[in-house]
Amino acid sequence: MEDCVFCKIVAGKIPADIKYEDEKILVFTDVNPQAPVHLLVIPKEHVDNILDLEDDGLLMKIFATIRNLAPKFNLGNGFRLVNNCGKKAGQTVPHLHFHILGGRRLGWPPG
Ligand code: AMP
Ligand code: ZN
Repeated sequence: MEDCVFCKIVAGKIPADIKYEDEKILVFTDVNPQAPVHLLVIPKEHVDNILDLEDDGLLMKIFATIRNLAPKFNLGNGFRLVNNCGKKAGQTVPHLHFHILGGRRLGWPPG
């Protein structure tokens, strides 16, 4: 999608600190980190949010990627996975993404 910031990262049109990439998935550092580790896991294909995702296989790949990345970022002691779905939940970039937050104690409930 042309005016989507994450599609631009996928296309290499704007820079990102890429931590993992395969045919379907891209993982990069959040530009405004909320924890010592703050990664964004996205499908390369544009999907607005989880409600629009039709390929359940892609969801499995995303979660398998998260599981594989956790030990590499020393997240064995705990991390948080966040998906903001829709404007009311605080989704600001309408390209499906999962936040991985870790490296510090995380409070609950979130604000
Ligand atoms: P959300 O509010 O759940 O839609 O999260 C969007 C996230 O994308 C925010 O945490 C932003 O800091 C992050 N973000 C926006 N633009 C970029 C970018 N160009 N590179 C990396 N992260 C970004
Ligand atoms: Zn996009």
